[in-house]
Amino acid sequence: MTAGGRGSEVYFGVCGCRSRSSGRELPELWSFLEPSSIKYSSLLPQCRKMADTESCPLYYPALEEIAGVLERGLKKNYAEVHVEVVDCPDLTQYPFGFPVKGLCGKTRIADVGGVPYLVPIAHPDKVYNINTVAKKIELPGAYMLGAGASSYKCVGMNAEMIFSIKAESPTSPAVNGNYLASINPADNSCLLEKYREKYSDHDFGLLSNLYASEGNPGKVIEVKVKRRTSNDNFVSCMRKSLKEHYGDKSVGMGGSFIIQEGRAKLHIMPREYSACSLNTDEDVDSWLHYYDMKAPLICQSVFVSHDPGFDLRVEHTHCFSHHGEGGHYHNDTTPDSVEYLGYFHPAEHLYRIDRPAVTHMVGRD
Ligand SMILES: [Zn+2]
Repeated sequence: MTAGGRGSEVYFGVCGCRSRSSGRELPELWSFLEPSSIKYSSLLPQCRKMADTESCPLYYPALEEIAGVLERGLKKNYAEVHVEVVDCPDLTQYPFGFPVKGLCGKTRIADVGGVPYLVPIAHPDKVYNINTVAKKIELPGAYMLGAGASSYKCVGMNAEMIFSIKAESPTSPAVNGNYLASINPADNSCLLEKYREKYSDHDFGLLSNLYASEGNPGKVIEVKVKRRTSNDNFVSCMRKSLKEHYGDKSVGMGGSFIIQEGRAKLHIMPREYSACSLNTDEDVDSWLHYYDMKAPLICQSVFVSHDPGFDLRVEHTHCFSHHGEGGHYHNDTTPDSVEYLGYFHPAEHLYRIDRPAVTHMVGRD
């Protein structure tokens, strides 16, 4: 089913799998349509909008094809590169400790809120709930990993959220494996905490970039690289490799990688939002606290090769560890000795939730 709105600018298309699998849930969600503010003319006709949620299919090549594209691209950036399609390791095991075994089944990327809700001035009223997000992406019970911010209302401070959470389903409660990285007020060091040990909600604030799936075992793309030879970080190298090969076909991926050897530059946002407005990248840079953290770091990553017009953050990675360090990943600081091992899967659909009406490109690094 495809219905045009406002001439040919807005479409509410439904792909076959969606209308069959979740059609019963759709009518109530489709009741609030706001086509006037959005121009969809550059998007695929399957794109649609329901209440505050826009969605679009992503280009979805075979895993073997993506593995080949990544291997060729990464060889320009690392001295040793090995990419292949493998069975996903059991992610409930160390060092991952996720609430699900794999990254497969009904894969989606969700970009929620955005940097414009943090800078120039924070919007602490922007609070989201992971169970609500799961429903908006039409996957109750989804496992989600990725990067975002805490809800100030829930935890009483601003902090980095490292997502690894299974939303509630009709038959099971949510399992919150998220981590929270904040600046320790005692000495400005990193304070990494398991979210569920202090808080019972499943909320977050301002923004997040999430990869969602049923969390099933299955085939994934294993990426091993050693010794960085270019300036880009590991995720940028993969994203740009996809962009170079697929052009304006948007390929979205998510997964988890381990910085096995070396050190990395990460930031943590201050506990208090900036009192003065942060108008430039330099303003944001001087507000953030930067750290040089040591391996092993387990990194939850989401990236999209090409923004099809949703004002996406095209890559976002947050890391946790078992030695008390974590935060927002920028790059390793030890190119000659760094080693990465990651497991990734492409997403079939993109969802854009509560896209800011006023946007800018400050603070997206
Ligand atoms: Zn971040």
